[in-house]
Amino acid sequence: MRLFWHQRDLRTRDVVGLTVAARDDTVLPVYVYDADAFGPVGRRHYGFQMRGVRALKRRYRELGSDLIVRSGDTAEELAALADSVDADAVYYGEHYRPSRRDRQQAVEERFAGTDVDTEPRTDLVLVDPGRLDASYPTHSQFHGDWEQVPKSTPYAEPDADALASVSDGTTVPVPDVDIDLPEAGNDAARERFDRFLDTGIYSYSDTRDDLGRAVEAPTQAVSRMSPYLAAGMIGIRELWADASERYEAVHGRERKNIDKYRYELSWREHNYHLLYHNPDLGERNYTSFPNEIQWRDDETGLAAWKRGETGYPLVDAGMRQLNAEGYVHNRPRQVVASFLTKHLLVDWREGARHFLEQLVDHDYASNSGNWQWTASTGTDSVDVRIFDPVSQMSKYDADARYVKEYVPELRDVPAGKVVDWPTLSRSTRDDLAPDYADPIVDRNEGYERAQRTFEAALGKR
Ligand SMILES: Cc1cc2nc3c(=O)[nH]c(=O)nc-3n(C[C@H](O)[C@H](O)[C@H](O)COP(=O)(O)OP(=O)(O)OC[C@H]3O[C@@H](n4cnc5c(N)ncnc54)[C@H](O)[C@@H]3O)c2cc1C
Repeated sequence: MRLFWHQRDLRTRDVVGLTVAARDDTVLPVYVYDADAFGPVGRRHYGFQMRGVRALKRRYRELGSDLIVRSGDTAEELAALADSVDADAVYYGEHYRPSRRDRQQAVEERFAGTDVDTEPRTDLVLVDPGRLDASYPTHSQFHGDWEQVPKSTPYAEPDADALASVSDGTTVPVPDVDIDLPEAGNDAARERFDRFLDTGIYSYSDTRDDLGRAVEAPTQAVSRMSPYLAAGMIGIRELWADASERYEAVHGRERKNIDKYRYELSWREHNYHLLYHNPDLGERNYTSFPNEIQWRDDETGLAAWKRGETGYPLVDAGMRQLNAEGYVHNRPRQVVASFLTKHLLVDWREGARHFLEQLVDHDYASNSGNWQWTASTGTDSVDVRIFDPVSQMSKYDADARYVKEYVPELRDVPAGKVVDWPTLSRSTRDDLAPDYADPIVDRNEGYERAQRTFEAALGKR
């Protein structure tokens, strides 16, 4: 008998360690609820994960087995279970978040010197981060090496007769959450991805930043697979193989569009690579600066940003989408992060912490890596990147469909005026939408202050 310890891989298909464990022995699947591991996780993401554990349990039952659910200290619970069924190995997929690494280490130590082997596998990513160089100055350099490594095909769900015939009556607790969550589980993930594969993927690169389309057809403009990937409800090899199959079958523009989707997945891989080699990615600047960055202590600005009341329509729409859905489209995600760290000059860790609390798709590696990239403390090909929220809106939401969806105060304002809002006079703004916020920082002053501050940190002033 072997145990398979589920962590953030809430599915039975395309789980490397599960398939390998089931090749020539019986497998008993187990999930250990460890309150400590959820301490640093936001309630929305946690709520989604626990619904995923329920869905996983259902799937095992359909297969004539069950997911054993325990709660308590992971190492002790696994040891007790291994002892009770006389297991000779524990298989699991490796995770890279520091709190999970510590837990894995505790499990390794608990079984060291016993008759039970531990068998970790790379599962979360297509390319084992340890196979590549330890650091890359830019994403394109990372991508160059990453692209060369052959990607494995998806791992099959184990045969039902390879799973232990057991039953476990534990009820999985699912906490109430303040927003509607997407349906959890591998079936729901699969259904969403199939819809995207039918049409959206063929125009992905052309339309992914069209925010109006993102409002009208949210799961077609982009895939919206991030919650499922973050909770491990679908395997990354499965996603890659399906996209690649479509890629091989088409030519020209459609092929380019699909390739862009695969390229975006490489950003996720890069963030895991960064976290693997820099466990403090969520806490410390990745780049070292000769001088300290002079972040501002701006409680009022931070609070306005969190509420979506900065007087910058695209920023506010992004923050209100976050508050209402636990998700933000990637373009406004970059704009809101840049606004906080550049125009307001608030430390990126404040923003990352707030995203952790609010995102359903919170992923420690991607959140930390992207906050650092946007704050110009991470890997980027330019020294200081500042998104101008006005020109971003004019480029990606010129007809203000996205903004008007989330900022009702602006619904009756002509689109061009919404785009230009931070540059209008106070009296014009009062005439057009008296209930909507005035800009909390001057657009040009904010930009120039950020430029000066970063140049000083870089020793260029
Ligand atoms: C400040 C900031 C914080 C972020 N925090 C997270 C986070 O906590 N969790 C998270 O999954 N993504 C995060 N992202 C990345 C990105 O915004 C989301 O992955 C994307 O918007 C999810 O929507 P989608 O699934 O429709 O993406 P699609 O456009 O359909 O892309 C498909 C998949 O590719 C991956 N991907 C795409 N862009 C990126 C990227 N820049 N970095 C990493 N992976 C990417 C994701 O897994 C995504 O699901 C963050 C970005 C920023 C700027």
